[in-house]
Amino acid sequence: MDLSYGNDSHGAWQTYLAQIDRVAPYLTHLSDYINTLKRPKRCLIVDVPIVMDDGTIQHFEGYRVQHNLSRGPGKGGIRYHPDVDLNEVMALSAWMTIKSAVVNLPFGGAKGGVRVDPSKLSKRELERLTRRFTAEISPIIGPQKDIPAPDVGTNGSIMGWMMDTYSSSVGYTVTGVVTGKPIHLGGSLGRVKATGRGVFITGRHIANRINLPIHGAKVAVQGFGNVGSEAALLFADAGAIVTWVQDHSGTIYNENGLDLPKLVQHVAEHRGVKGFADAQVADDEDFWDASVEIMIPAALESQITVDRAQRLKAKIVLEGANGPTLPAADDVLVERNIVVVPDVICNAGGVTVSYFEWVQDMASYFWTEEEINERLDKLLIQAINDVWSSAEEHQCTLRTAAYILACERILEARQERGIYPG
Ligand code: NAD
Repeated sequence: MDLSYGNDSHGAWQTYLAQIDRVAPYLTHLSDYINTLKRPKRCLIVDVPIVMDDGTIQHFEGYRVQHNLSRGPGKGGIRYHPDVDLNEVMALSAWMTIKSAVVNLPFGGAKGGVRVDPSKLSKRELERLTRRFTAEISPIIGPQKDIPAPDVGTNGSIMGWMMDTYSSSVGYTVTGVVTGKPIHLGGSLGRVKATGRGVFITGRHIANRINLPIHGAKVAVQGFGNVGSEAALLFADAGAIVTWVQDHSGTIYNENGLDLPKLVQHVAEHRGVKGFADAQVADDEDFWDASVEIMIPAALESQITVDRAQRLKAKIVLEGANGPTLPAADDVLVERNIVVVPDVICNAGGVTVSYFEWVQDMASYFWTEEEINERLDKLLIQAINDVWSSAEEHQCTLRTAAYILACERILEARQERGIYPG
């Protein structure tokens, strides 16, 4: 298999391979199996033709990649975005393998996507695209095979259409084929807020470990969507002062603390933080110079560059987004003693409650939000403690420690299963 697709040295898959190379020296006892991690198990590329509202036919390219299934069915979202390509989907699927294993969920890693700008489609076109894409990837998905979920550009309604299309093809309702569904279609309470909650739970835990008091700490958040806004609200509830927020519309700050409930309402009404009354406006680049103790990138990939890493004032970075720190910037943060809680554990609250949703669907028995949050907190604290112990044992960063822990679990499963045919 030629794995040089989109062979750009800055591609996401190349970043992932560099991360595996960094952790390989710690995995010499499993070195016979390390190449398992460097090759996706299965990549499916599909043509998705749909009839547009004006009667013309348009073709879109879709993907489902199952990176590793050694520990259980594939798990990972579906992205609708104009930049989706095989390189990106491969990397995102691999990061799901690592994330599931860090939290010790019985899942492998997968991811899918369609190269499309969903904002340019009508609701009917979006539904046709989703149903045809689901039909095309149906041979390899299923509640015991591979379980998609929402990601950038997709949501609960799209998961509802996916569930319905898959169920129609098998002849009965299969709620467990996707997670992130609306509650009345077998979705789980607590799923929407789970990722932001996980950022808070893991961040607070590590802050305690490094003796950084949350009460009175100043916080900057990039991205005030699902993940960033919930994390900000929980930190404020715990006594932190959220002073800087940046989103796609601009950057605002209030050194006395932003009024978050009002900001949530403003963003819902105006689709961005721009124009919020009780704050001052800053240049976007000034965000990275903010005088804060806690920095939460919760928007996009590749935000913390070497230059920004050199300027950060924060003592701790909580990676709410996937891949917000470039590998070279990671090294700068280490040199500067800035602790990074890596994405594979920091934002794993979402996949953890997706796991709970799948379990509830399989049992057709649903838990209360209290039960969900209790179980979520327990699993994440167990995982972050494991990562901390691994970092102490190997004298390495939390990111390397998380990768050691995850890769050991994945490769030990591979070793115990053996290579077929033996
Ligand atoms: P969202 O769409 O709800 O919010 C995204 C936020 O990022 C918005 O506030 C948007 O304005 C902001 N943003 C977009 N472009 C920006 C730019 N150029 N500069 C600054 N801000 C910008 O998305 P989300 O679900 O909150 O996801 C955010 C990140 O968290 C993504 O990296 C996603 O992959 C990751 N993540 C999300 C989940 C989840 O359960 N939602 C789980 C794991 C990881």
